[in-house]
Amino acid sequence: MTPHRSTLGRRDLLRGGAALFATAALPGAAFGLPESFLSRPVAVPFLPGAPATKRVVLVVFGGGVRAREMLGSGNTPNLDRIAEEGVVFNNTYARNNGHYGSATNIFTGRFESYGIRENARSADPTLFEYIRRDADLPSTEVWLSTAGSDQETNYAYSAHGDYGYRFGANLIGGEGIFNAEFREVIAGSQDRLPRREPDEEAALQRLRGAIKTPLGVAGTGQINDPEATARIESYILDELQGGTTGITGIGANDAKSLRVARNLMAIFKPRLLGVTLRNADIAHGSFNDYVTVIRRNDEEVGRLFAAIRGDAELADSTAVFVLPEFGRDRDLNTRRGLDHGDGSDDLHKVQTVAWGPDFRSGKVVTKEVQSIDVCPTIADMFGVRPSMARGGKLPNLFA
Ligand SMILES: [Zn+2]
Repeated sequence: MTPHRSTLGRRDLLRGGAALFATAALPGAAFGLPESFLSRPVAVPFLPGAPATKRVVLVVFGGGVRAREMLGSGNTPNLDRIAEEGVVFNNTYARNNGHYGSATNIFTGRFESYGIRENARSADPTLFEYIRRDADLPSTEVWLSTAGSDQETNYAYSAHGDYGYRFGANLIGGEGIFNAEFREVIAGSQDRLPRREPDEEAALQRLRGAIKTPLGVAGTGQINDPEATARIESYILDELQGGTTGITGIGANDAKSLRVARNLMAIFKPRLLGVTLRNADIAHGSFNDYVTVIRRNDEEVGRLFAAIRGDAELADSTAVFVLPEFGRDRDLNTRRGLDHGDGSDDLHKVQTVAWGPDFRSGKVVTKEVQSIDVCPTIADMFGVRPSMARGGKLPNLFA
Protein backbone atom coordinates (compact mmCIF):
# COMPACT_ATOMS: atom_id res chain seq x y z
CA MET A 1 0.00 0.00 0.00
CA THR A 2 1.74 3.12 -1.16
CA PRO A 3 0.01 6.43 -0.62
CA HIS A 4 -0.38 8.60 -3.64
CA ARG A 5 1.96 11.49 -3.27
CA SER A 6 1.57 14.97 -4.54
CA THR A 7 2.79 18.33 -3.50
CA LEU A 8 1.06 20.77 -1.25
CA GLY A 9 1.63 24.41 -1.87
CA ARG A 10 3.22 26.56 0.75
CA ARG A 11 -0.06 28.31 1.14
CA ASP A 12 -1.67 25.08 2.26
CA LEU A 13 0.99 24.50 4.83
CA LEU A 14 0.65 28.01 6.09
CA ARG A 15 -3.05 27.64 6.36
CA GLY A 16 -2.37 24.78 8.73
CA GLY A 17 0.08 26.98 10.55
CA ALA A 18 -2.35 29.85 10.67
CA ALA A 19 -4.98 27.73 12.33
CA LEU A 20 -2.43 26.64 14.82
CA PHE A 21 -0.72 29.87 15.67
CA ALA A 22 -3.54 32.26 15.35
CA THR A 23 -1.75 35.13 17.00
CA ALA A 24 1.73 34.55 15.62
CA ALA A 25 3.14 35.98 12.45
CA LEU A 26 3.21 33.04 10.08
CA PRO A 27 6.66 31.69 10.81
CA GLY A 28 7.25 29.66 7.70
CA ALA A 29 6.53 32.57 5.41
CA ALA A 30 9.95 34.12 5.84
CA PHE A 31 11.85 30.95 5.15
CA GLY A 32 11.34 30.65 1.43
CA LEU A 33 11.06 26.92 1.82
CA PRO A 34 11.57 25.04 -1.41
CA GLU A 35 8.45 23.39 -2.67
CA SER A 36 9.98 19.95 -2.17
CA PHE A 37 10.23 20.53 1.57
CA LEU A 38 6.51 20.80 1.78
CA SER A 39 5.41 17.76 -0.14
CA ARG A 40 3.26 15.25 1.62
CA PRO A 41 0.54 12.86 0.62
CA VAL A 42 -2.76 14.52 -0.04
CA ALA A 43 -4.91 11.66 -1.25
CA VAL A 44 -4.54 9.64 1.92
CA PRO A 45 -6.06 6.18 1.61
CA PHE A 46 -8.20 4.54 4.24
CA LEU A 47 -6.55 1.77 6.20
CA PRO A 48 -7.07 -1.74 4.85
CA GLY A 49 -8.11 -3.11 8.22
CA ALA A 50 -10.22 -0.15 9.36
CA PRO A 51 -12.25 1.18 6.45
CA ALA A 52 -13.18 4.57 7.91
CA THR A 53 -9.76 5.26 9.45
CA LYS A 54 -6.76 6.91 7.82
CA ARG A 55 -4.58 7.81 10.77
CA VAL A 56 -3.86 6.54 14.25
CA VAL A 57 -2.61 8.39 17.33
CA LEU A 58 -1.26 6.30 20.22
CA VAL A 59 -0.70 8.10 23.50
CA VAL A 60 1.21 6.24 26.19
CA PHE A 61 -0.28 8.12 29.13
CA GLY A 62 2.72 7.01 31.06
CA GLY A 63 4.69 7.48 34.20
CA GLY A 64 2.49 4.96 36.01
CA VAL A 65 -1.17 5.99 36.26
CA ARG A 66 -3.71 3.99 38.22
CA ALA A 67 -7.25 3.45 37.03
CA ARG A 68 -8.35 5.14 40.26
CA GLU A 69 -6.94 8.44 39.05
CA MET A 70 -8.10 8.07 35.47
CA LEU A 71 -11.57 7.66 33.99
CA GLY A 72 -14.40 8.82 36.20
CA SER A 73 -12.06 10.05 38.91
CA GLY A 74 -12.68 13.70 38.20
CA ASN A 75 -9.05 14.13 37.11
CA THR A 76 -9.59 13.38 33.45
CA PRO A 77 -12.72 15.10 32.14
CA ASN A 78 -11.34 15.16 28.60
CA LEU A 79 -10.44 11.49 28.56
CA ASP A 80 -13.82 10.77 30.08
CA ARG A 81 -15.51 12.44 27.13
CA ILE A 82 -13.35 10.59 24.61
CA ALA A 83 -14.11 7.36 26.44
CA GLU A 84 -17.84 8.03 26.37
CA GLU A 85 -17.69 8.24 22.59
CA GLY A 86 -15.35 5.30 22.25
CA VAL A 87 -14.47 1.99 23.83
CA VAL A 88 -12.96 1.56 27.29
CA PHE A 89 -11.03 -1.57 28.15
CA ASN A 90 -11.17 -1.19 31.90
CA ASN A 91 -9.46 -4.49 32.58
CA THR A 92 -6.19 -4.05 30.71
CA TYR A 93 -3.42 -6.16 32.18
CA ALA A 94 0.00 -4.50 32.16
CA ARG A 95 3.20 -6.12 33.32
CA ASN A 96 5.59 -4.15 35.50
CA ASN A 97 8.87 -4.12 33.59
CA GLY A 98 9.82 -0.64 34.70
CA HIS A 99 8.57 2.47 32.94
CA TYR A 100 10.80 2.03 29.93
CA GLY A 101 10.28 -1.69 29.62
CA SER A 102 6.52 -1.56 30.01
CA ALA A 103 6.11 1.33 27.58
CA THR A 104 8.31 -0.55 25.12
CA ASN A 105 6.02 -3.55 25.60
CA ILE A 106 3.14 -1.47 24.26
CA PHE A 107 5.10 -0.65 21.12
CA THR A 108 6.47 -4.15 20.54
CA GLY A 109 3.40 -6.15 21.54
CA ARG A 110 5.55 -8.34 23.78
CA PHE A 111 6.08 -8.46 27.53
CA GLU A 112 9.85 -8.62 27.30
CA SER A 113 11.80 -7.39 30.29
CA TYR A 114 14.86 -5.32 29.56
CA GLY A 115 16.26 -5.48 33.08
CA ILE A 116 19.69 -4.01 33.44
CA ARG A 117 19.80 -3.25 29.75
CA GLU A 118 17.19 -0.62 30.27
CA ASN A 119 19.01 1.84 28.09
CA ALA A 120 19.29 -0.54 25.18
CA ARG A 121 16.88 -0.66 22.32
CA SER A 122 14.34 -3.41 22.18
CA ALA A 123 15.40 -6.59 20.41
CA ASP A 124 11.86 -6.83 19.08
CA PRO A 125 10.53 -4.60 16.32
CA THR A 126 8.24 -1.75 17.28
CA LEU A 127 4.87 -0.89 15.87
CA PHE A 128 6.53 1.96 13.95
CA GLU A 129 8.84 -0.45 12.17
CA TYR A 130 6.11 -2.95 11.36
CA ILE A 131 3.97 -0.22 9.88
CA ARG A 132 6.73 1.49 7.95
CA ARG A 133 8.25 -1.66 6.54
CA ASP A 134 5.21 -3.73 5.83
CA ALA A 135 2.72 -0.99 4.93
CA ASP A 136 5.47 0.72 2.94
CA LEU A 137 5.12 4.10 4.63
CA PRO A 138 7.86 6.72 4.33
CA SER A 139 9.39 8.18 7.48
CA THR A 140 7.43 11.37 6.94
CA GLU A 141 4.27 9.45 7.86
CA VAL A 142 5.32 7.88 11.15
CA TRP A 143 6.30 10.01 14.13
CA LEU A 144 7.05 9.76 17.80
CA SER A 145 6.81 12.68 20.20
CA THR A 146 8.44 11.99 23.54
CA ALA A 147 8.53 13.74 26.87
CA GLY A 148 12.23 14.07 26.36
CA SER A 149 14.32 11.55 28.25
CA ASP A 150 17.14 9.92 26.34
CA GLN A 151 15.76 6.50 27.13
CA GLU A 152 12.49 7.32 25.47
CA THR A 153 14.16 8.03 22.15
CA ASN A 154 14.71 4.26 22.01
CA TYR A 155 11.03 3.74 21.34
CA ALA A 156 11.53 5.01 17.79
CA TYR A 157 13.03 1.76 16.52
CA SER A 158 14.46 -1.54 17.68
CA ALA A 159 17.78 -3.31 17.29
CA HIS A 160 16.20 -6.02 15.14
CA GLY A 161 18.23 -6.70 12.02
CA ASP A 162 15.27 -7.01 9.67
CA TYR A 163 13.72 -3.77 10.92
CA GLY A 164 15.63 -1.16 12.91
CA TYR A 165 16.52 2.42 12.09
CA ARG A 166 15.59 2.15 8.42
CA PHE A 167 11.98 1.79 9.48
CA GLY A 168 12.00 3.92 12.62
CA ALA A 169 9.67 6.73 13.54
CA ASN A 170 10.72 10.31 13.04
CA LEU A 171 11.56 11.50 16.48
CA ILE A 172 10.70 14.79 18.04
CA GLY A 173 10.67 15.92 21.63
CA GLY A 174 9.31 18.88 23.48
CA GLU A 175 12.85 19.79 24.46
CA GLY A 176 14.12 19.56 20.94
CA ILE A 177 15.79 16.22 21.46
CA PHE A 178 16.46 14.36 18.30
CA ASN A 179 18.61 11.48 17.27
CA ALA A 180 22.24 11.95 16.36
CA GLU A 181 21.45 11.28 12.74
CA PHE A 182 19.22 14.31 12.70
CA ARG A 183 22.05 16.45 13.97
CA GLU A 184 24.36 15.12 11.28
CA VAL A 185 21.83 15.77 8.60
CA ILE A 186 21.33 19.29 9.83
CA ALA A 187 25.08 19.85 9.95
CA GLY A 188 25.51 18.50 6.45
CA SER A 189 22.71 20.35 4.80
CA GLN A 190 23.67 23.95 5.46
CA ASP A 191 24.08 24.71 1.79
CA ARG A 192 20.65 23.51 0.92
CA LEU A 193 18.79 25.15 3.74
CA PRO A 194 17.11 28.42 3.00
CA ARG A 195 18.49 31.62 4.38
CA ARG A 196 16.80 32.88 7.47
CA GLU A 197 16.52 36.13 9.30
CA PRO A 198 19.21 36.61 11.99
CA ASP A 199 16.93 36.10 14.97
CA GLU A 200 15.45 32.99 13.42
CA GLU A 201 18.94 31.73 12.79
CA ALA A 202 19.81 32.41 16.42
CA ALA A 203 16.79 30.45 17.56
CA LEU A 204 17.82 27.60 15.33
CA GLN A 205 21.37 27.69 16.66
CA ARG A 206 20.09 27.50 20.20
CA LEU A 207 17.99 24.57 19.23
CA ARG A 208 20.89 22.83 17.55
CA GLY A 209 22.85 23.34 20.73
CA ALA A 210 20.09 21.63 22.67
CA ILE A 211 19.99 18.60 20.44
CA LYS A 212 21.52 15.71 22.25
CA THR A 213 21.22 12.01 22.35
CA PRO A 214 23.42 9.11 23.39
CA LEU A 215 21.98 6.99 20.66
CA GLY A 216 24.35 7.52 17.80
CA VAL A 217 24.27 4.54 15.48
CA ALA A 218 27.60 4.96 13.77
CA GLY A 219 27.65 4.14 10.12
CA THR A 220 24.08 2.99 10.01
CA GLY A 221 22.57 5.85 8.12
CA GLN A 222 19.81 8.03 9.30
CA ILE A 223 16.36 7.77 10.70
CA ASN A 224 15.03 11.07 9.47
CA ASP A 225 15.30 11.46 5.73
CA PRO A 226 16.62 14.81 4.41
CA GLU A 227 13.25 16.00 3.23
CA ALA A 228 11.70 15.21 6.57
CA THR A 229 14.63 16.80 8.34
CA ALA A 230 14.23 20.04 6.49
CA ARG A 231 10.56 20.04 7.26
CA ILE A 232 11.27 19.24 10.86
CA GLU A 233 13.67 22.12 11.04
CA SER A 234 11.11 24.47 9.65
CA TYR A 235 8.54 22.95 11.90
CA ILE A 236 10.75 23.43 14.93
CA LEU A 237 10.93 27.12 14.28
CA ASP A 238 7.19 27.23 13.85
CA GLU A 239 6.91 25.32 17.04
CA LEU A 240 9.33 27.56 18.91
CA GLN A 241 7.27 30.53 17.94
CA GLY A 242 4.14 28.69 18.92
CA GLY A 243 5.01 29.20 22.55
CA THR A 244 5.87 25.67 23.59
CA THR A 245 9.17 26.79 25.06
CA GLY A 246 7.22 28.85 27.55
CA ILE A 247 5.58 25.80 29.10
CA THR A 248 6.88 25.34 32.63
CA GLY A 249 5.99 23.83 35.96
CA ILE A 250 5.11 20.33 37.13
CA GLY A 251 4.55 18.07 34.16
CA ALA A 252 5.99 20.56 31.68
CA ASN A 253 7.83 17.92 29.65
CA ASP A 254 4.69 15.90 29.12
CA ALA A 255 2.73 19.02 28.26
CA LYS A 256 5.36 19.92 25.67
CA SER A 257 5.30 16.43 24.21
CA LEU A 258 1.54 16.64 23.79
CA ARG A 259 1.72 20.18 22.42
CA VAL A 260 4.32 19.11 19.89
CA ALA A 261 2.13 16.15 18.99
CA ARG A 262 -0.84 18.44 18.46
CA ASN A 263 1.12 20.80 16.26
CA LEU A 264 2.57 17.89 14.37
CA MET A 265 -0.84 16.39 13.79
CA ALA A 266 -2.29 19.66 12.60
CA ILE A 267 0.51 20.48 10.19
CA PHE A 268 1.92 17.19 8.93
CA LYS A 269 -1.00 14.86 9.55
CA PRO A 270 1.10 11.71 9.84
CA ARG A 271 -0.49 8.29 9.41
CA LEU A 272 0.82 7.04 12.75
CA LEU A 273 1.77 9.27 15.66
CA GLY A 274 3.06 7.96 18.96
CA VAL A 275 3.24 10.14 22.06
CA THR A 276 4.96 9.07 25.26
CA LEU A 277 4.46 10.76 28.62
CA ARG A 278 6.30 10.23 31.85
CA ASN A 279 5.87 13.00 34.38
CA ALA A 280 3.19 11.21 36.41
CA ASP A 281 6.08 9.31 37.96
CA ILE A 282 6.52 12.30 40.24
CA ALA A 283 4.08 10.22 42.29
CA HIS A 284 7.00 8.47 44.00
CA GLY A 285 7.43 11.62 46.05
CA SER A 286 4.05 13.27 46.00
CA PHE A 287 0.55 12.04 45.38
CA ASN A 288 -0.68 15.59 44.92
CA ASP A 289 1.87 16.39 42.24
CA TYR A 290 0.97 13.13 40.51
CA VAL A 291 -2.65 14.21 40.31
CA THR A 292 -1.55 17.62 39.05
CA VAL A 293 0.35 15.94 36.20
CA ILE A 294 -2.58 13.71 35.31
CA ARG A 295 -4.92 16.68 35.17
CA ARG A 296 -2.51 18.68 33.08
CA ASN A 297 -1.96 15.80 30.68
CA ASP A 298 -5.69 15.31 30.40
CA GLU A 299 -6.06 18.96 29.43
CA GLU A 300 -3.42 18.60 26.75
CA VAL A 301 -4.94 15.37 25.48
CA GLY A 302 -8.20 17.30 25.29
CA ARG A 303 -6.50 19.94 23.15
CA LEU A 304 -4.97 17.31 20.91
CA PHE A 305 -8.38 15.72 20.55
CA ALA A 306 -10.01 19.07 19.84
CA ALA A 307 -7.41 19.75 17.15
CA ILE A 308 -8.26 16.43 15.52
CA ARG A 309 -11.99 17.02 15.73
CA GLY A 310 -11.64 20.57 14.49
CA ASP A 311 -9.73 19.59 11.37
CA ALA A 312 -11.90 18.65 8.41
CA GLU A 313 -9.37 16.16 7.14
CA LEU A 314 -8.74 14.50 10.49
CA ALA A 315 -12.08 14.66 12.27
CA ASP A 316 -13.80 11.66 10.77
CA SER A 317 -10.80 9.53 9.90
CA THR A 318 -8.47 9.51 12.90
CA ALA A 319 -8.36 6.88 15.62
CA VAL A 320 -6.95 7.55 19.07
CA PHE A 321 -5.63 5.07 21.64
CA VAL A 322 -4.67 6.12 25.18
CA LEU A 323 -3.27 3.91 27.94
CA PRO A 324 -0.60 4.05 30.64
CA GLU A 325 2.28 1.56 30.71
CA PHE A 326 1.11 0.36 34.13
CA GLY A 327 -0.55 1.67 37.30
CA ARG A 328 0.89 2.22 40.75
CA ASP A 329 0.79 0.64 44.21
CA ARG A 330 -2.41 0.39 46.18
CA ASP A 331 -1.10 2.22 49.25
CA LEU A 332 0.83 5.42 49.81
CA ASN A 333 4.49 5.15 50.75
CA THR A 334 6.04 6.91 53.73
CA ARG A 335 6.49 10.11 51.71
CA ARG A 336 2.79 10.13 50.94
CA GLY A 337 3.67 9.20 47.43
CA LEU A 338 2.97 6.14 45.31
CA ASP A 339 5.58 3.66 44.14
CA HIS A 340 5.05 0.79 41.74
CA GLY A 341 5.97 -2.72 42.78
CA ASP A 342 3.37 -4.19 45.12
CA GLY A 343 1.86 -6.58 42.58
CA SER A 344 -1.62 -5.25 43.26
CA ASP A 345 -4.43 -4.83 40.75
CA ASP A 346 -3.87 -1.08 41.10
CA LEU A 347 -0.47 -1.69 39.54
CA HIS A 348 -1.39 -4.29 36.96
CA LYS A 349 -4.89 -3.32 35.83
CA VAL A 350 -5.14 -0.14 33.82
CA GLN A 351 -7.60 1.52 31.49
CA THR A 352 -7.26 1.67 27.73
CA VAL A 353 -9.34 4.16 25.76
CA ALA A 354 -9.93 3.68 22.03
CA TRP A 355 -11.80 6.20 19.94
CA GLY A 356 -12.24 6.26 16.21
CA PRO A 357 -14.60 6.17 13.26
CA ASP A 358 -14.46 2.38 12.99
CA PHE A 359 -14.90 1.74 16.69
CA ARG A 360 -17.92 1.28 18.86
CA SER A 361 -19.20 4.20 20.85
CA GLY A 362 -20.05 4.18 24.53
CA LYS A 363 -18.80 0.65 25.02
CA VAL A 364 -17.04 -0.68 28.11
CA VAL A 365 -15.24 -3.99 27.65
CA THR A 366 -14.71 -5.74 30.99
CA LYS A 367 -13.07 -8.84 29.53
CA GLU A 368 -9.38 -8.89 30.39
CA VAL A 369 -7.12 -7.63 27.63
CA GLN A 370 -3.42 -6.80 27.71
CA SER A 371 -1.38 -3.71 27.06
CA ILE A 372 0.50 -5.72 24.43
CA ASP A 373 -2.74 -6.08 22.44
CA VAL A 374 -2.56 -2.48 21.28
CA CYS A 375 0.35 -3.04 18.88
CA PRO A 376 -1.27 -5.96 17.01
CA THR A 377 -4.58 -4.09 16.93
CA ILE A 378 -3.11 -1.01 15.30
CA ALA A 379 -0.89 -3.08 13.01
CA ASP A 380 -3.94 -4.97 11.85
CA MET A 381 -5.70 -1.71 11.06
CA PHE A 382 -2.77 -0.90 8.77
CA GLY A 383 -3.07 -4.34 7.19
CA VAL A 384 0.19 -5.48 8.72
CA ARG A 385 0.98 -8.62 10.70
CA PRO A 386 3.42 -7.88 13.53
CA SER A 387 5.13 -11.24 13.31
CA MET A 388 6.98 -11.06 16.61
CA ALA A 389 4.22 -9.52 18.71
CA ARG A 390 2.57 -11.81 21.25
CA GLY A 391 -0.58 -9.86 21.99
CA GLY A 392 -3.88 -10.33 20.20
CA LYS A 393 -6.37 -7.93 18.70
CA LEU A 394 -8.52 -6.00 21.17
CA PRO A 395 -11.95 -7.65 21.27
CA ASN A 396 -15.29 -5.89 20.80
CA LEU A 397 -13.58 -2.80 19.49
CA PHE A 398 -14.98 -2.45 16.00
CA ALA A 399 -18.51 -1.29 15.33
ZN1 LIG B 1 8.64 5.19 38.73
